[in-house]
Amino acid sequence: SDSHFPVPISPSDIDHSLHFPTFPNSDENKIRFADVGCGFGGLLVGLSPLFPSKLMIGMELRDKVTEYVKERISALRSANPGEYGNISVVRTNSMKYVPNHFGKGQLEKMFFLFPDPHFKEKNHRRRVISDHLLDEYAYVLGVGGVLYTVTDVEELGEWMRDCLERHPLFEAVAEEELKRDPVVGLLTSATEEGQKVARNGGQTFKAVYRRIVVREDE
Ligand code: SAM
Repeated sequence: SDSHFPVPISPSDIDHSLHFPTFPNSDENKIRFADVGCGFGGLLVGLSPLFPSKLMIGMELRDKVTEYVKERISALRSANPGEYGNISVVRTNSMKYVPNHFGKGQLEKMFFLFPDPHFKEKNHRRRVISDHLLDEYAYVLGVGGVLYTVTDVEELGEWMRDCLERHPLFEAVAEEELKRDPVVGLLTSATEEGQKVARNGGQTFKAVYRRIVVREDE
């Protein structure tokens, strides 16, 4: 339960040096990408060399999985000196604590790859994309920031797209732009879940939305 992991009171309460010892704590070195429900960390590992100066964190609820990702990153750092210093992981419940980890407008990208589907109607409130959670994600994403979702569950794909479509602070990223975005390919190829779906020849459903400006932000 939640009592088993520490929760930062605010983003400034996070010990940056523990996560990113090779990046001095400064305004330029804030976490910019968050992989929510990162699982075994394949996306972080794939993104790290593409954006070597961006700090990224995975948020994962399961203790053992989080420990695995920590060890994976530390092994990669040892084997590749000077690399993988920009990725880290934290054990937390992202449905409760996103605003404890990131300040207003801090993030440039948020990822929700193959989230748990929670099929039953009464469990829809456990889904990591919902109207009210999108309010929080809109708060921590800077204007222009991008929220990426992908799933192999068609119904969940529609649900995530519907939530994003009706939210006033998000707008669909155009297909043309997605084709040029180097991150898009990783959505289905980089994570353990994505690779499993690909092996089984399963279909995937993407929804990629941009945080847009409203008058208060200007
Ligand atoms: N994104 C990874 C991938 O594509 O391989 C993992 C997908 S897995 C189906 C969903 C992950 O989300 C699990 O590792 C689970 O523990 C994590 N998760 C579920 N609810 C969460 C929450 N509230 N906060 C953080 N992580 C959560």
